[in-house]
Amino acid sequence: MSTAVIARCSFCAKPNTDVEVLVGGPGVFICDGCVRLCVTVIEGKPADAPMIAPWEHDIPLEQVLQNLAPVSAASSQVQENLAAWVGKARALGGTWSQIGEALGMTRQSAWERFA
Ligand SMILES: [Zn+2]
Repeated sequence: MSTAVIARCSFCAKPNTDVEVLVGGPGVFICDGCVRLCVTVIEGKPADAPMIAPWEHDIPLEQVLQNLAPVSAASSQVQENLAAWVGKARALGGTWSQIGEALGMTRQSAWERFA
């Protein structure tokens, strides 16, 4: 296991230091424990429920409020991850025009946001 916190699972917020494996996706991460939980949820889901989104179910306000901070933290991590990817693009010689085009924004907007 790594000793430095590099990222957190986007599902349970555990840092890479507290899990066996943290798999990275486009701006998000998932730990081995959440993958196992997801497999269980997927295997037990009704055939007519293609998407399993907690906010689609009847849940109490208290539970919704408890989820706001983790959702916000996951959002912040995605933004930090995007900045890291932009930094990688710059390190590889990518221009602000290329980065802006990839993000669907102008060169100037990309530079103002990430420079
Ligand atoms: Zn997790």
